[in-house]
Amino acid sequence: MPHAPSWYADTAHPAPNRPMLVGDVTADVCIVGAGYTGLVTAIELAQRGLSVVVLEAEKVGWGASGRNGGQIVTGFNKSIAEIEGWMGKGDARQLWDLSEEAKTMLAGLVERHQIECDLKWGYLLAALKPRHMTALAEHQAELDGLAYGKSRMVARDEVRAMVATDSYIGGLYDEGSGQLHPLNYALGLARAAEGLGVRIHEGSRVVRVETGDKPFATTATGKVSAGYLVLAGNAYLGGLAPPIRSRVMPAGTYMIATAPMEPERAAALIPSGIAVADINFALNYYRRSPDHRFLFGGGVSYSGFDAPGLKTSLRRTMLRYFPQLADVPVEYLWGGHVAITMNRLPHLGRISPTTYFAQGYSGHGVALTAIAGRVIAEAIGHQAERFDIFARIPHRPFPGGQTFRMPALVLAMMWYRLRDLL
Ligand SMILES: Cc1cc2nc3c(=O)[nH]c(=O)nc-3n(C[C@H](O)[C@H](O)[C@H](O)COP(=O)(O)OP(=O)(O)OC[C@H]3O[C@@H](n4cnc5c(N)ncnc54)[C@H](O)[C@@H]3O)c2cc1C
Repeated sequence: MPHAPSWYADTAHPAPNRPMLVGDVTADVCIVGAGYTGLVTAIELAQRGLSVVVLEAEKVGWGASGRNGGQIVTGFNKSIAEIEGWMGKGDARQLWDLSEEAKTMLAGLVERHQIECDLKWGYLLAALKPRHMTALAEHQAELDGLAYGKSRMVARDEVRAMVATDSYIGGLYDEGSGQLHPLNYALGLARAAEGLGVRIHEGSRVVRVETGDKPFATTATGKVSAGYLVLAGNAYLGGLAPPIRSRVMPAGTYMIATAPMEPERAAALIPSGIAVADINFALNYYRRSPDHRFLFGGGVSYSGFDAPGLKTSLRRTMLRYFPQLADVPVEYLWGGHVAITMNRLPHLGRISPTTYFAQGYSGHGVALTAIAGRVIAEAIGHQAERFDIFARIPHRPFPGGQTFRMPALVLAMMWYRLRDLL
């Protein structure tokens, strides 16, 4: 079974094909989905001595975890001040600490399990307009208030030395954010989980879950009966668990990779090799690859359809920043679904006392999935204090039900896009 096509798939480390689930098996915990959420949860549970089966519809890392921008981003998609407004000072502070623990965990997983995924720290949030600088300065002030100590504002000249584009007027440099090869991170997590005794089945789509006292998950060819279920299908879960479906919106987002360049030419684009994002509402993010390509992401489709001409339009956006790439062909285009929530904070909770879920990291999942996996494992181990902080985050359903929620959001997003262009 192949990975979803991308530059990541073509540079993935060799991995075994895992067997399809056949027949009836039992486990302490059954996890639906082998992306970062499912895999880190499995590792954390196995480390606590529980038996775990992971059921993956396609292949390990087939979803967003194998296709994303690979950007490890500090904090959440909302400021801590906003979270404080919704949840109070104590919870907001603890959520910040948990988000920091997520990055420490990620680094620890990579080191402990020797996951070769090109992990590298250093990140620039760049400003295109004065109002972006104001927003970044507010962000920096908040980080100072949290005693973060790893970020600082940078002026136009320093940004120009970091990135070979004249587009930016300044930025915020964060040495605590970074980048990795997302699919190789997922494959490494799977190997680590199996080393701890976790059984992973690929090609095993769960078609029904029973979330009561005696939970189970069934596929076309088998059934796992378990003490607990963890639903980790995120944007790809579809209608398997109706109670949580309306809390996330799957949005298509896309990346391109250029042809390889001479090493010196690629290095000149981002001499420091850091990852970069700018803070237009429709985020653009990019970095160099170890084989000297330029990886550029952006473009969001909320309509549920992959817009035609994406490769051309993403390339056009890239050339606006980097006209010097005009003669470099684009060799790859791929996309995937990112799950966003109404308030842009992750959605963790229980459907029943035996069934947990985590979804909707809203573009921050590379890091935050690690802590989600840990707090779910803690809660299954009857230490739910930290899980419950996440579970207290107030989430509202997207308005409009299944049929109309997309058009409503598309209109809202078009307004923000227009604001960016102006
Ligand atoms: C193009 C793109 C760029 C992104 N860039 C970034 C970024 O730079 N930084 C960042 O932090 N985040 C980014 N994200 C988001 C990030 O990738 C996700 O938040 C993260 O990977 C979520 O991991 P997950 O394990 O929860 O979900 P996924 O990785 O999507 O895994 C879910 C898995 O569940 C499986 N599944 C679903 N339903 C079933 C079923 N019924 N039975 C069995 N299996 C099932 C799916 O096949 C899938 O493999 C990006 C996402 C995309 C698509």
